[in-house]
Amino acid sequence: MAFPPIREELRGLTPYGAPQLPLDRVPVQLNVNENPYGPSSACVADIAESVAAAALTLNRYPDREFVALRTALAAYLSRDTEAGVTPDQVWAANGSNEVMLQILQAFGGPGRVALSFAPTYSMYPEYARDAMTEWVVGHRAEDFSLDHELARDLIEERRPSVVLLPSPNNPTGTALPPEAVSLLCEAAGNGLVVVDEAYGEFRRAGTPSALALLPRHRNLVVTRTMSKAFALAGARLGYLAADPAICDAIRVVRLPYHLSAVTQATALAALRHGPELLSRVDDLRAERDATVTWLRAQGLDVADSDANFVLFGIFPDRHAVWEGLVERGVLIRETGPDGWLRVSIGTPQEMGSFRQALTQVMEDPS
Ligand SMILES: *Cc1c(COP(=O)(O)O)cnc(C)c1O
Repeated sequence: MAFPPIREELRGLTPYGAPQLPLDRVPVQLNVNENPYGPSSACVADIAESVAAAALTLNRYPDREFVALRTALAAYLSRDTEAGVTPDQVWAANGSNEVMLQILQAFGGPGRVALSFAPTYSMYPEYARDAMTEWVVGHRAEDFSLDHELARDLIEERRPSVVLLPSPNNPTGTALPPEAVSLLCEAAGNGLVVVDEAYGEFRRAGTPSALALLPRHRNLVVTRTMSKAFALAGARLGYLAADPAICDAIRVVRLPYHLSAVTQATALAALRHGPELLSRVDDLRAERDATVTWLRAQGLDVADSDANFVLFGIFPDRHAVWEGLVERGVLIRETGPDGWLRVSIGTPQEMGSFRQALTQVMEDPS
């Protein structure tokens, strides 16, 4: 056995992650779909006070069931569904990435299959691997929509215990219509269908959330995060809504006290300032739509987007374009199918820098 005695299938692999370049070298960072607007000073003051209060009892373990936080998250989610969401339907962890891993630990495992449709979120196959779950990937259509019948056929053929559907999809921005979610929930039988709504708050008017379908499908799981619309990526708080039996199953695999008292206090304070943190979402959606229009006017192919990023191309050498932008101080993401690039929506100033840099790169690729 070689040293260190890492699992055979992990040998030689490097940790995955978007390049983190220093701000002084690349001042305009539009590569990981963060919210460009930080919390207000009122919110910061509330977080600081709440964390100070929590610090008085840091000698004690936190509330393992984070009841206050589940209650606040349920109230927040209830805005998106007439049926409402109750605290026992809510689960949370350190980012929705941890929620996803817990789902695979509880419902995947040896001999079981997790399935998604490419292009899809690049972290899913890693979590499947870490949970020793077979990873099966179908494909989206040329315009990145999902062919409902083909998707249903693949699910019926491979019988996954977990289907992972980002909606709006990362990296394409494509939202799934509710009919598709319902059809796939039925096709999955007792398998779970996880609709990852990390970008749910950015969806265009008229695009519904899958939360409204929860009463109809007991195998449906809707995940959300405070990292994107809520402008709280640094705090690490992701969550889901599902049948209480699903939450109970996840409690079996979670680490004890996985949500620190500091995290709980921070998330609760941020939720109290929800309307203010979310007030920038409309600005970002407008900036997103303007970015789509501008990129199309440059003669580029652009995917319709319900998220806070836009996928565009098609470049014969996308790496050269990405590098040209970095040289001009703009960091975007080299991801998606060959030839495509993804830009996160920043402030109007940042998007101005992006447009200027991209114009220069396309005029003079060298
Ligand atoms: C950003 C993102 C998340 C959120 O990750 P966190 O761990 O909550 O920060 C989840 N799913 C997708 C598809 C994402 O792009």
